[in-house]
Amino acid sequence: MDHKSIAIDGPSGAGKSTMAKQLARELGFLYVDTGAIYRTLGLFALERGVDPGQWTQVEPLLAQVSIRMDYGEDGLQHMYLGGKDVTEAIRRPEVSGAASKISAIPQVREFLMDMQRDMARSNSVVMDGRDIGTVVLPGADVKIFLTASPEERACRRCTELRQRGTPEDYEKVLSDIIERDARDSGRAAAPLKQAEDAVLVDTTDITLEESFSLLFRTVQENLK
Ligand code: C5P
Repeated sequence: MDHKSIAIDGPSGAGKSTMAKQLARELGFLYVDTGAIYRTLGLFALERGVDPGQWTQVEPLLAQVSIRMDYGEDGLQHMYLGGKDVTEAIRRPEVSGAASKISAIPQVREFLMDMQRDMARSNSVVMDGRDIGTVVLPGADVKIFLTASPEERACRRCTELRQRGTPEDYEKVLSDIIERDARDSGRAAAPLKQAEDAVLVDTTDITLEESFSLLFRTVQENLK
């Protein structure tokens, strides 16, 4: 069967997962959050007391780790680490930092590649990440680069944290975003960048609804 794939890349907090999830629902495709895979490995490093930025420390972990992803009855992607559901645990802020560090290691990216490609081989997918259009699925049917200014992304993140009952200081959130952007874009291995054939969607000055309409139109126009 001919499966379709839609790649959505962009920096943290641009709304990729919200948009990708909604898009997948509308199209009847599977939503694959690749950041969750890096987060699961990042969590494993933290649990083992390993510096996620040091390849020599991370290397032995790759032979020991067991990462699995699954779609529950709720249709949502669940991540399992050694059989334990870590879907919630990987959202903690320290895991964001660990994922960002561990994902800069080229051997780690290679190690997690098949898992991502396998999903697209056996399903029609909306896959989000940093290098989906450039490295993981260079032949994706539609590629979107979704972005917004760091300040706007920090504002949205603060609102989300407040709603979750775990508010954080705006300046701290902004500096974390800027630091993560620099690490994701500046790394040698599969840096965050717009694929040449990706459509740029900048959501800085538009609402979530407007962003989704724009994204949906773009996908419909480009999905052959
Ligand atoms: O998307 P999310 O913020 O959950 O990803 C966590 C981290 O994993 C990112 O900061 C990024 O460094 C890394 N990542 C990546 N490549 C992907 C997805 C995520 O390097 N395809």
